[in-house]
Amino acid sequence: MHHFEYRDSVLHCEDISVSDIAERFGTPVYIYSSATLTRHYKVLADAFKDQPCLIAYAMKANSNQAVLATLAALGSGADVVSGGEMKRAMAVGIPANKIVFSGVAKSRTDILDALEAGIHQFNVESLPELHRISELANANGYTADIAFRINPHVEAGGHANISTGGAEHKFGIAWHEGKDFYTLAQSLPGINVCGVDVHIGSQITNLDPLRAAFEKVVGLVRDLREAGVPITRMDLGGGLGIPYRDGDEPATPAEYAAMVREVLGDLDVEVILEPGRMIAGNAGIFVSRVEYIKERDGRRFAILDAGMNDLMRPALYQAVHEMKPVVRSEGRATLDYDIVGPICESTDRFAKNYPAQEMNEGDLVAFMSAGAYGAVMSNQYNTRPMCAEVLVNGDNVALIRTPPTFEEIIASETVPEWLKT
Ligand SMILES: *Cc1c(COP(=O)(O)O)cnc(C)c1O
Repeated sequence: MHHFEYRDSVLHCEDISVSDIAERFGTPVYIYSSATLTRHYKVLADAFKDQPCLIAYAMKANSNQAVLATLAALGSGADVVSGGEMKRAMAVGIPANKIVFSGVAKSRTDILDALEAGIHQFNVESLPELHRISELANANGYTADIAFRINPHVEAGGHANISTGGAEHKFGIAWHEGKDFYTLAQSLPGINVCGVDVHIGSQITNLDPLRAAFEKVVGLVRDLREAGVPITRMDLGGGLGIPYRDGDEPATPAEYAAMVREVLGDLDVEVILEPGRMIAGNAGIFVSRVEYIKERDGRRFAILDAGMNDLMRPALYQAVHEMKPVVRSEGRATLDYDIVGPICESTDRFAKNYPAQEMNEGDLVAFMSAGAYGAVMSNQYNTRPMCAEVLVNGDNVALIRTPPTFEEIIASETVPEWLKT
């Protein structure tokens, strides 16, 4: 469910026309719907309302301050994977005790800042990291609440580049190391062992691999408790998939919650959820303008003013975002296009042989489901400024990321004295 619909043949975000937004803020531009963000958060919170549960939004999906503020107002916590993300979460007032720190390479500074802030939990991914946290907590008079991220050796079945739960992946500690590592952790100063964490991948549309992973984790929690390790929290990670195309039918939050309830049975734990894509994915679209139509060697290219630097998922994961015309014209034919950007890379292509309403120079197109892993991955390759992001709320729209000017981009670089003439 989302709030991007046609009214009189013009795509709207809530009550505002996407054409008007493109005129006012330029293209390319990311457009987010407050109503959709809110709805997704509430549907999930509602599905888990009978269970002690912390929803820690995985901010790496979309960490814009306005998006975070929208979710923070609903009571969301944050799953952060860097010191910078933690600062972003705290800047919008997400309380430290709702922040979970994930990620494989927490630096000393990250750890100290998180200890000082008093975050809810560190999700620890290796023994060296555990020792580092213990040393820093002990030396500075803190106690760190920790969970180990366990790699359950379950393949999520999504795209290979977003699967994380297999033995070859860098994430987490190995399944068979679990018990020994927990026993060791209990003996270390500055460490309070409280949870087990698992995250097997992203865009998982079928619940079976999640269920398999959670069943293993529940077994581990019971074993650990029997061995005297007082586990009180189970962090189930993120990963729930979203529809990217008409006809996609991923498991719903209600089905997910029912499965979790069944797997937990009578196990008394606080559940932590780290949803990213499921909250932000369908709450955003990415809008671009056609610069040129070029026909060559029997192919028809629609060359856009947006590139892989703005929306990287197609180049990085071969993802295909559904593309819609911002203005529908009944009279136009449907033609096949290779939809490409201006960047000097062959991977700068959004889709190949994509059937679309006939396009002309200046037409606007919208890539759907671009709210997660879109703007956050954008970069300035080819000296293309990071594009604007706007947030819509009913008939209000606000600029929430301002593109830098070329002067600002250039001014951040320095020519050493010895090169100046
Ligand atoms: C990326 C990530 C998430 C969010 O995943 P989604 O598929 O966007 O829900 C949650 N937890 C961890 C540890 C992650 O790395």
